Amino acid sequence: MSPGPPAPREPGVAPPPGFSRPAIPAERWNDWHWHMRKRITTVDKAREWFRPTPEEEKAIAGAAGKYRWSITPYYASLMDPYDPRCPIRQQAVPAPGELLEFAGAEIDPVGDMYYRKTNRVVHKYPDRVIMLITEACPVYCRHCTRKFHTTDVQGSYFRDDEGASFEEDLRYISDHPEIRDVLLTGGDPLSYRDNRLEEIVAALRAVPSVEIIRIGSRFPVLLPQRITPELCAMLERYHPVWLNTHFNHPKEITPESAAAVDRLLRHGIPVGNQTVLLRGVNDDVTTMRTLMTELLRIRVRPYYLYHCDNVTGVSHFMTSIEKGWEIMEALQGHITGFGVPQYVLTTRLGKIPMARPYCTPTPDGLLLRNHRGEELLLDSSVYPVTEGDATREGDAP
Ligand code: SF4
Repeated sequence: MSPGPPAPREPGVAPPPGFSRPAIPAERWNDWHWHMRKRITTVDKAREWFRPTPEEEKAIAGAAGKYRWSITPYYASLMDPYDPRCPIRQQAVPAPGELLEFAGAEIDPVGDMYYRKTNRVVHKYPDRVIMLITEACPVYCRHCTRKFHTTDVQGSYFRDDEGASFEEDLRYISDHPEIRDVLLTGGDPLSYRDNRLEEIVAALRAVPSVEIIRIGSRFPVLLPQRITPELCAMLERYHPVWLNTHFNHPKEITPESAAAVDRLLRHGIPVGNQTVLLRGVNDDVTTMRTLMTELLRIRVRPYYLYHCDNVTGVSHFMTSIEKGWEIMEALQGHITGFGVPQYVLTTRLGKIPMARPYCTPTPDGLLLRNHRGEELLLDSSVYPVTEGDATREGDAP
């Protein structure tokens, strides 16, 4: 068990004189409910853990009523308290960029609403569906592809229906026996308490055609204390259960997160990782190589490297596609093969591997092709291909 809040982990950076974080008794620090109750949602609370800059404070005020904001004390404890470029801070603290407008940005570029069949079921691929079961997350990541699910201004995904019965969703899955794989996502499904989550998992396991249950959760990164032995034992009863998580930076790999992964693995739950390529956070070769090798060290399989979607409120994190290729080239052959993730872009056509023959640069932009041979041309003003394309500024609203 952890003895309390870990020290800031930025090598060589000491907290400013007089800066100290709250002393939390170990039994509270190790209790995920305590972290959920004590999430940071105000500037005053944030000051206990880091020093918000005037720009961050302005962005926090600007995001109010538009995008949700909360940070677990655990995740805040990983931040450099006074450097706004800290990769943990950039993922969790609102920044001025999310209030700018960018060409081609959309609230739902991946087409969840288009493929939505019931309140919770999104059926995009032939043999599998995602079930969006909650809007709640322990930390509202500033780069979230599903930012509109948790937005306060444009109407969230569920509006008032998050608590509605699952009957219609389960009936849809039962009525489509071609569905053999269900991914529980959201929001973060592990925001639910164990007994509620078990009801959902048990109901899915009772559908004869469902072979695999997958959970997409960032709790191992944002609040690893949530991965309790009780949760793991419960999930083990419904195997095969897989879990994909979302580490973006080596600073997120801590003794606590490694222990959470270990608990999942010991209960037979394979853990994969999906990283998002984020400007200023992990868009360099050294960071990515370290991240992938550290993931292997804690026995997490790197799975996808997502190109950042051009999502409203997220576009300032986008890099060029050329940057993604540069990183992939520096991984391929330089680290062990199963440590190299697949570089993909999520579109309305599905996930497109960012490699030929699925992705071909043309003078007008990127020509994408999916597994069915359908094509989509991405205008280079919307998805920059070169670094020159990518350096344009967003326009102030
Ligand atoms: S935990 Fe996942 S769903 Fe929630 S805000 Fe972060 S990336 Fe989005």
